[in-house]
Amino acid sequence: MTAQILDGKKLSETVRNEVRDGVTAFVKEHGRAPGLEVVLVGEDPASQVYTRNKEKAAKEVGIRGVLHSLPADTSETALLALLDKLNADDAVDGILVQLPLPKQIDEKKVLDRVAPEKDVDGFHPINAGLLASGRPALVPCTPRGCMRMLRETGMKLEGARAVVVGRSNIVGKPIAQLLLAENCTVTIAHSKTRDLPGLCREADVLVAAVGRAKMIKGDWVKEGAVVIDVGINRVDGKLQGDVAYDEAKERASWITPVPGGVGPMTIACLLENTLVSARRRVSSSSR
Ligand code: NAP
Repeated sequence: MTAQILDGKKLSETVRNEVRDGVTAFVKEHGRAPGLEVVLVGEDPASQVYTRNKEKAAKEVGIRGVLHSLPADTSETALLALLDKLNADDAVDGILVQLPLPKQIDEKKVLDRVAPEKDVDGFHPINAGLLASGRPALVPCTPRGCMRMLRETGMKLEGARAVVVGRSNIVGKPIAQLLLAENCTVTIAHSKTRDLPGLCREADVLVAAVGRAKMIKGDWVKEGAVVIDVGINRVDGKLQGDVAYDEAKERASWITPVPGGVGPMTIACLLENTLVSARRRVSSSSR
């Protein structure tokens, strides 16, 4: 079997078009555009590119995107004060603080300060708790994108065996929660898991979120499985996933490429989250 490709670039265009339509309707109804504020501290080149892309993508779909670029020596107090200001501003629907933060700033303190209803990254413990309790929450963008890709395959998730390799709070755990909510039987694997190849071979849905290039070999993939590769690893200047793509595609039914798979879906889902947040905020303020 040669896998069908889950084209994240193409699907992310569809999501962006859906958001654009949603934004147009929102503006018509409420007389203002949804607002997304992206906060960057420092001059990390990769973070500069990511945040500029987020601001640009927001503007392209009609969201009022604002980028705050703060110097690397910004104090924690100053950053928290900016977040307080954005939290209190009614025109702001989404707030995103780009990670990593410089070492003088406590990341947890900062993420906890973003108002949960504006937390479009879905990293606030309240949103993580809501997700774990199966209640509506702002879901982290990458996991949201993975689920949208899975839906594209048309596979029946109910009862499927899912293995998620990686247990970070921003990727592995929320993906596992979302798969569970779809009635998959979910196992979360990590660096201490025994017989990882054997476990992966049981998976109808295999999600790799590790950060180790080509770690998941082709013969770890069950015939006909759907493989979602979240990993982004730079090897000799090229991007590689966590899955040995050329081998795995000979066994999977569907597979995401790297680049061009999960990556492009993440920004599209950030835009989607901003619209979701804007809609929820206007409907809760009119109650
Ligand atoms: P992370 O916080 O470093 O977590 C990595 C996870 O992988 C940990 O749970 C770790 O286990 C596990 N792990 C490490 N080595 C392993 C091994 N040999 N066998 C089994 N599990 C192992 O990383 P992350 O933030 O979740 O990101 C994971 C990958 O996704 C990275 O490549 C990152 O760049 C990429 N990513 C992509 C997007 C996107 O938009 N496509 C977004 C976010 C992240 P322990 O918990 O036991 O240490």
